[in-house]
Amino acid sequence: MSKYEWLLFDADNTLLNSSKAFPLAIKESFEAINVECSQALMERYESINNKYWIQFEKGEISLEQIKKERFSTILSGLDIDYEPEAFNLLYLNKLVECTELYEGTIRVLDQLKPHFRMSIITNGMREAQRPRLHKTKITEYFESIIVSDEIGQSKPDIAFFDYTFNSIENPPNKEKTLVIGDGLSSDIQGGINYGLDTCWISNGRENTSKLEATYEIASIRDLPGILR
Ligand SMILES: [Mg+2]
Repeated sequence: MSKYEWLLFDADNTLLNSSKAFPLAIKESFEAINVECSQALMERYESINNKYWIQFEKGEISLEQIKKERFSTILSGLDIDYEPEAFNLLYLNKLVECTELYEGTIRVLDQLKPHFRMSIITNGMREAQRPRLHKTKITEYFESIIVSDEIGQSKPDIAFFDYTFNSIENPPNKEKTLVIGDGLSSDIQGGINYGLDTCWISNGRENTSKLEATYEIASIRDLPGILR
């Protein structure tokens, strides 16, 4: 019998196959404004986008800044007269359409549901995050869903986890709570900051950071194995 009672799941690249959905949604967004999305354009976007999210996790910029700015350099560089914020919305709508679960996720959730309380903790934009989760039909598995943009706090901050612990009735104590996610600087750092055990989903990557998760698994499908 597992010592945990409450599982806190990250969404992107943990439950949702976002490494597939993100580039697909970008490609479709550019095509929607008649721009061919070359490999170079994709790489340029990914590098800019990653930089923004890293700054965001460090608390250096706001999510509003990402919404307003992440496409501005790219669009002006391409000499395209399209409002960056509007393009961001176009992208988020495409992202909802492109979102899907990792294969086997429903089977895992079905397996865990009788034994654990479960919540989703996600750093994401309010315009897309809940619609994406609804689209995948997994919301019924979770007692609460915390979206950073809706509460003005984000992982890895302690305030985000304070909010999470207030989001359900009689939350189990910290020793009985496990954070599960692919993000070292958000999920694992956040769990460590709050004194929670963590399970890092490597998705085949190597952990080159100094952060040590309590468990490491390759994919969500391996989760039931460590919770026996
Ligand atoms: Mg993630």
